[in-house]
Amino acid sequence: MDQQTPPAEPGFRESVDIMFNRAVKLMDLSPGLEEKIRICNATYVVRFGVRLRGAIHTFTGYRSVHSEHMEPVKGGIRYALSVHQDEVEALAALMTYKCALVDAPFGGSKGGLCIDPRAWDEHELEQITRRFAYELIKRDLINPAQNVPAPDMGTGEREMAWIADQYKRMNTTDINGSACVTGKPINAGGIQGRTEATGRGVQYALREFFRHPEDIAKANLSGKLAGKRVIVQGLGNVGYHAAKFLSEEDNAIVTGIIERDGSLYAEAGLDVEDVKKWIATHGGVANYPHATHDADGAALLEHECDILIPAALEGVINMTNADRIKAPLIIEAANGPTTAGADEVLRKKGVVIIPDMYANAGGVTVSYFEWVKNLSHIRFGRMQRRAEEARHELIVAELERLDEMLEHRWSMTPNFKEKYLRGADELELVRSGLDDTMRTAYQAMRDVWHSRDDVPDLRTAAYLVSIRKVADSYRAKGL
Ligand code: NAD
Repeated sequence: MDQQTPPAEPGFRESVDIMFNRAVKLMDLSPGLEEKIRICNATYVVRFGVRLRGAIHTFTGYRSVHSEHMEPVKGGIRYALSVHQDEVEALAALMTYKCALVDAPFGGSKGGLCIDPRAWDEHELEQITRRFAYELIKRDLINPAQNVPAPDMGTGEREMAWIADQYKRMNTTDINGSACVTGKPINAGGIQGRTEATGRGVQYALREFFRHPEDIAKANLSGKLAGKRVIVQGLGNVGYHAAKFLSEEDNAIVTGIIERDGSLYAEAGLDVEDVKKWIATHGGVANYPHATHDADGAALLEHECDILIPAALEGVINMTNADRIKAPLIIEAANGPTTAGADEVLRKKGVVIIPDMYANAGGVTVSYFEWVKNLSHIRFGRMQRRAEEARHELIVAELERLDEMLEHRWSMTPNFKEKYLRGADELELVRSGLDDTMRTAYQAMRDVWHSRDDVPDLRTAAYLVSIRKVADSYRAKGL
């Protein structure tokens, strides 16, 4: 077969449906409920014009609501030329399952604007974003109680701040206006740790995986996360933070980075921060001096490594390359990077895949914290931090008294006092909540994976856990 022409594979939405169907077959859902959960409730398509550079430019945007079993519904807004209805609906479905899996009390939604954000300057992007937001706000498709977007590919805290401001201009008396969107900058109602949250969640997911020797063995790996060779595709928000934390804090070795203009490879490891700086100044990875560059970036997906982290686009692991993938462990930081066909091939090869709906749930988890912060109008830790410190002071004073009594034959470990006395600030609380969420959700998935012979992989287990929760909530509503 010609390697350039992919065989006919189902589209992204169909791929999600195939994976859903595989899981749902193992469940005992009442007739009709299965379909109710699978289908996307509604997709709004908007075409609007913006006067830019002396002419009117028409843009097409989408907001899909997959499931309203809980409200508000939640999901990012993507800016890319590849955005289309099928993709937005697939992503909205994944949001439903993801929120259920990590117990974020939201239904699933997703938005997209068909645009190349690099083709417009900041002022133009602000005009386009505000206009798109206006179209969605006036239909309650952005609303703190009904539909709360967040960043996705091509958008970040800058766009979220414009959207929040647009909502507030149109709803001047809504005291909860800031909660209409998450992923905002701190000075516009954001929360500490949101920008890094998805990458941080990938790190916590891998740490949790490596706490379970049985799971490590299933991936034909051994030992710890430290020293594992990692290849990451996409050094954007998610890929950059995941690669940075894994290399700097867990001593994993990032041997490969794949970007739009090719890949970088260095057996001894790449300095993620240095590569990121190079991209920022040179516009790509080409000519980076401390690694081998290959213009055919995707080829590096097939290179030997311990952990492969696709963190860019969907469908990059497909029927054209699945049988050549050598990584024994794949963690899907991106949404839908593995097609349903490739998933099958990899499972037969014994590759362990930590699925997208779990792996990249750190973003929505911290978005949930931000939404709660906005609704409560107070920063996490503000009330209890000093009280916590005061209580800790009492213990430290007692320990110091003991120290005196024992005539300094016993003493506190250096730094103990400073570390113990400090009450948790917002960032620490966010990290603690995220870590707990990632651990708990992994354990729920692995319990199903290990306890049932008919559940072949973590993805099926993740679907089983989340579909069960969505079904329970529909049943409770009397549907
Ligand atoms: P981003 O726009 O910040 O980064 C995407 C990166 O991928 C960019 O560096 C881009 O240059 C690179 N890229 C684009 N095309 C590529 C190609 N063909 N080969 C290699 N690299 C390529 O986007 P992001 O927010 O990091 O999102 C990445 C993925 O993670 C998406 O699938 C998104 O849905 C998912 N995700 C993001 C979040 C979030 O909080 N941002 C949360 C959950 C899931």
